Amino acid sequence: MNEDQLPPLREVIARHGLSARKSLGQNFLLDLNLTRRIARAAAPLAGHTIVEVGPGPGGLTRALLMEGAERVVAVERDARVLPALAEIAAAFPGRLEVVEADALTVDWRELVGDRPAKVVANLPYNVATPLLLGWLTTEPWPPWYRSLTLMFQSEVADRITAPPGSKVYGRLSVIAQARARARALFDIDRRAFTPPPKITSTLVDIVPLDVPPVPCPIAVLEKVTASAFGQRRKMLRASLKMLLADPEPLLARAGIIPTARAEELTVAQFCRLAQLYEGE
Ligand code: SAM
Repeated sequence: MNEDQLPPLREVIARHGLSARKSLGQNFLLDLNLTRRIARAAAPLAGHTIVEVGPGPGGLTRALLMEGAERVVAVERDARVLPALAEIAAAFPGRLEVVEADALTVDWRELVGDRPAKVVANLPYNVATPLLLGWLTTEPWPPWYRSLTLMFQSEVADRITAPPGSKVYGRLSVIAQARARARALFDIDRRAFTPPPKITSTLVDIVPLDVPPVPCPIAVLEKVTASAFGQRRKMLRASLKMLLADPEPLLARAGIIPTARAEELTVAQFCRLAQLYEGE
């Protein structure tokens, strides 16, 4: 079978008995026009190793290969889909490698090797945020990937890109924006998925900054933001007590008023706090 003869995804799903499992966050995209649009959003694909998390029956995988990816490494936890993916691998000889694994425990650097990599995925919603945090906090930096083109629930996409002062500005916004430029590309209606989830999805493009504008010790930033946003309605002089007994001197050194709340601080101010706390 060559790439033009691959059967429609609905047929693949029926033939391999791939009923969607909620526990694995399975909402499949069966419209190749849509998956090709997602693949194109990560262009150029050639010259990179494309990492896909959760290929499922392979709608996005096919699109990535059709749009010019020379090498796709697809990490999937559900062994039921492996025969369907083997058919795609046969149609694109030497270009698709399927790894049966839990994406939360994969050593990405080892998997990808030295070639520049991009991640493109319609993420399983139940592990989307931990996966993203893992990629954003990876060390050493710059990371092993050139970009992340990822589908999230729109509510998560809003949190990633939220500016200070917004209701949804939080830990994920600060960590993402301290290390990367993140922007929402387009929404995808829930009805495009099989089965349709309850909410709209948004494709987000995340490009790591080689040199972040403000130096930011990321492990410390994780602690500071966990503390500050852990009790987001409290003033920082109270919420940062999870971090240290008396936060006021630290806030003063950072030039931040102790009555400010977490959602009012810019990413640069959080980075400054992290630097100073690290030096304590
Ligand atoms: N890429 C396909 C598509 O667009 O139609 C499927 C996307 S579906 C939202 C998420 C996929 O991730 C499923 O195939 C699911 O089995 C897989 N998955 C869920 N948890 C995973 C994990 N921890 N590691 C790897 N794959 C996982």
